[in-house]
Amino acid sequence: MVRKTLKSFREKFPAQNIRPVSLPDTDVSKVRAKWGMERLQDGSIVGIVGGGPGGMACAITLKRLARERGIRVQTVIYEGKTYSGVPHYNQCVGVLSPPIRSLLEDQLQVPFPDHLVQREITGYILYSDNRHIELQDESEPSFAVRRITFDSYLLDQALQWGVDVRQSRVTDLELHPDRVILYSETDYLRCDVVVGAFGLDDGSIQMFERATDYRSPEFLYSIVTKIHPGMDYMAQIGNKIFAFLPSYRRIEFGAITPKYNHITINIAGKDINTHWMDTFLRYSPVRQILPSNDSYDHNSLFYFKGKFPISIAKNYYGHRYVMIGDAAGLVRPFKGKGINSAFQSGIHAAQVMMHEGISRQAFKLFEETCHEIIHDLPYGHFMRRFAILSTNYGLLDFFIHFAHQNQIMQNALFNSVSAHKFYREILRETVRWPVLKDAFRSFYKYYGAKFHQAETK
Ligand SMILES: Cc1cc2nc3c(=O)[nH]c(=O)nc-3n(C[C@H](O)[C@H](O)[C@H](O)COP(=O)(O)OP(=O)(O)OC[C@H]3O[C@@H](n4cnc5c(N)ncnc54)[C@H](O)[C@@H]3O)c2cc1C
Repeated sequence: MVRKTLKSFREKFPAQNIRPVSLPDTDVSKVRAKWGMERLQDGSIVGIVGGGPGGMACAITLKRLARERGIRVQTVIYEGKTYSGVPHYNQCVGVLSPPIRSLLEDQLQVPFPDHLVQREITGYILYSDNRHIELQDESEPSFAVRRITFDSYLLDQALQWGVDVRQSRVTDLELHPDRVILYSETDYLRCDVVVGAFGLDDGSIQMFERATDYRSPEFLYSIVTKIHPGMDYMAQIGNKIFAFLPSYRRIEFGAITPKYNHITINIAGKDINTHWMDTFLRYSPVRQILPSNDSYDHNSLFYFKGKFPISIAKNYYGHRYVMIGDAAGLVRPFKGKGINSAFQSGIHAAQVMMHEGISRQAFKLFEETCHEIIHDLPYGHFMRRFAILSTNYGLLDFFIHFAHQNQIMQNALFNSVSAHKFYREILRETVRWPVLKDAFRSFYKYYGAKFHQAETK
């Protein structure tokens, strides 16, 4: 029965390239009959905690699929942030990477918001302590938007699809065999299934950990700030993101992203704080890019703190609940297209609920649809460790030097920084004998010349 379900799901969504999975020999029909957890029916109610890209994609897809099936599904999103008046800040830098246009237009049927684009991003410049390399994006550009206006745009789109958006925080939940109860600051909802799309919000994590076996993903902290250096500077800075892998042990990576009238600066690490942002702003390669000190007041900079997931959450689905996006850790580890991944997991979760069911067994199919991200995790962890070791021992200078001569190495750096390819593909393309042979030769020359210089001094 389970295999038949999986087969029919694959036939419906061939594009997802779902691979075979060995599921336990549970009789799904019995479980469903006992718990009443068939796929969503006319009159079903779905509660979504969080109105970021994951929650919005899930809600819009549910509405679209319900329309296709000719049923009514009430979809309620709770979002604690306000987008009007004095809007809340979102730590996200707001770079929308390919294939964002087709994700929005083909999969979500939402027009791409060209009017929100502040700058087209055409590549990256990667810096180590002493070297840098320009990594040109030959494919589609990325788009820098203001994240809060992008979320607000998605909210308007969701409203047009008939999603019930409630501006309120969910404060607690109860999971029962036949229903889920959501308590919010303003009301109470009895629903059939709950979707956790709350990012890495501490309060929501605790709430779900109390009510279910869910355990949140591991994460890195990030600090973000903005500088408004004037339009002359913004005209000169170009359309590339400056990415840094400095040798400070606490800072795993940093970036400067040009927007319309300001630059956004962010750093990430396990244990960073404002001191490390101050240190980063004084870091020599960063100083060379930032505007001169007299064009902005360092003391008036606002710092915001956020988090990036770096692992998959434990038990991110069960009977009547499923987590998506950052809450599930379903993002490319270390350096990811978090917005794209949140969209994708939201869409997949909606497809499973609409076509298969809301039981733990049904959500195994959801896990399957996310297999590309899940299978890439060990490779991502390896690359993260490798990057940390390379920067700590000064080897990144050599890798950048080598990438200037070797196109495969240059592609590997580009794909790692841009997140255009999965880590396992990057490793497969790069860890090959001709590249390694070239690298050893270049390594010998590079360090031989350095050693010789030191000797002659
Ligand atoms: C510094 C930084 C920079 C980043 N830059 C980029 C980038 O340039 N491009 C990119 O693709 N990704 C980027 N990301 C990653 C990206 O922001 C996330 O991966 C993405 O936003 C995840 O979407 P989500 O819907 O899962 O969660 P979120 O976007 O975090 O949305 C969760 C929402 O849930 C709401 N919420 C939480 N708890 C409750 C509750 N109890 N009740 C009601 N509402 C609740 C929150 O207010 C929030 O709006 C960045 C992340 C960080 C930290």
